Order: sequence, then structure tokens, then C-alpha cells
Amino acid sequence: MRKQKTLAREIRIEGFGLHKGKWSRVTIKPAKANTGIIFVKRGPEKNDVPIPAHIDYVVSSDYSTTLGKDGVEVATVEHLLAVLRLARVDNAKIEVEGDEIPILDGSGLPFLHALKEAGFVELEEGIKEIIVRERFFYEEEDKKIVIEPSETSHLYIEVSFNNPAIRYQSFSYRMDGLAAAGALAGARTFGFVDEIYFLRKKGLIKGGSLANAVVFDRNGVVMNKEGLRFSDEPVRHKVLDLIGDLSLLGMRMRGGVRAYKPGHSFNHRSLKEFLKSGYYEILSAE
Ligand code: ZN
Repeated sequence: MRKQKTLAREIRIEGFGLHKGKWSRVTIKPAKANTGIIFVKRGPEKNDVPIPAHIDYVVSSDYSTTLGKDGVEVATVEHLLAVLRLARVDNAKIEVEGDEIPILDGSGLPFLHALKEAGFVELEEGIKEIIVRERFFYEEEDKKIVIEPSETSHLYIEVSFNNPAIRYQSFSYRMDGLAAAGALAGARTFGFVDEIYFLRKKGLIKGGSLANAVVFDRNGVVMNKEGLRFSDEPVRHKVLDLIGDLSLLGMRMRGGVRAYKPGHSFNHRSLKEFLKSGYYEILSAE
């Protein structure tokens, strides 16, 4: 039987948030079987509201994923959720002091290092899994996603940007546990010089800098002096973001996913449609 997993001990990570620009601290704690991933926001008012990492609790999809319940919100959860999924952590309680998960270096790597250092434990109960049974297709303008039956869990993502540094990139990834996770976790958030003014005007990326994002100018020049970590870093980051969003199904998924030009709000609407479709079955490991 494939058993559910959690962390072997708690870990604590702190830093600035990308969008709100404020300091925050997260403590990721082991949790018992069937808890799932839950965020618990700690505040001076001590109103501990548990917010499940589930698509039903997405309250904003604007350039990142914000979860909320009863007026309490936690922003920019996607990279941490993606890394928990890559590490196959089914249960964890994430206490948050602040409004947003720290952006750190813009990638999932610091979370992955911390999780590996903490280690993992198997719980007695078997995993629950969404098994894709029929081919699901969803599109909006030029964005497309296919979720289809497959014995393995894998993703194939294509992106297209009107910037000479990216143009078209594709990346194929098989969910293969920790060994392969570094290929995605290290890919950083990225953006373009030309959109900084627009995003700041929307009240976003207040904490954004070259320390936590790759920035391209309109000629495709990388503004960061350290350059890129991977020649196709943008598409790898999009895969990471999509894995974080897919984790909002609340359990592991067995199936293949192909997406063209994914983004958070599109991902969230696709997942809601997928859940409505009924093209899947939820099975518990025996
Ligand atoms: Zn991201």
C-alpha cells in the first residue's frame, strides 16, 4: 500500500512577500493522516482560521494564488504548495505569521532544501488519489489544457511570449519524487521590465526585485547579473506554478496534463471545470 506522508519535524522559513512586500514567517508542521495541507494564519488577534489548500478556497488568482476563508487570507502559496507536492507531502499544517508566503529567491528551492533537511515520515493510512478516467479539454482564448488518463503522472507545458529571450519554450516533466524535483524547484519567478509599472499600479510586486525574480528587458536581455539558472527557466517555472495549482485538488492526481500558456487564473478555472466534469474517480490505496 502506498502510504500518506508528512514531515519528520517542523521547519521555519521567513522572508519578504513578493506582492505585499512585507516580512512574514511560516512554520510547516507535521500533521496526521487525512489532514491534507492546511494553512493557519497566526495574528496578534489569535484568530486561528484553518484554510485548506483546496481550489474551493481560492480568493484571488491575480498573478499568484491567494487562499482565504472567513475574511482571512494567505497570498502567494503556489511555490510552497508545488514543492510539497513534488516531495509527496500529503499532510502538513502551515502556520503563517504575515499575509503572504515569503518569496525567498523566487523559486521553490529554499523550501525543497528545508523539507529535505527535515525529512519525511510515512503514516499508517494509504494515500487518496484522483485517477483521471476520461480526456478533459478546456480552453480560453489561446490558453488550453488537456487532462487525460495515464498510468504515470506527467506534465507537458508550452509557453509563448513576445520577448526574444523566450518566444516559444516547452518542457516535459514526470512526477518522479524528490530526485527529479530540483529541475523544477530551482526555476525562478520571472517578469518583464515593460510590465513593472502596470503591476505596481495594480498594487502588486511591492517586494519584487532582482533578488527574487528574473527580469527580461524588451530586447530579451536578462537584467540579473547572475543570468539564468536554466536556458528554459521561464517554462520550468510555469510547470512549477501549475503543479502548485494542481495540488489544490487536495490530493495526488494520476494522469497526464498538457497545457499551452497556463497562468494562475486560467489554471484555477480549468480545475473547477475538471472537478465538475466528473471525468475522474477518487481511490484510496488499499
Ligand atoms: Zn510562480
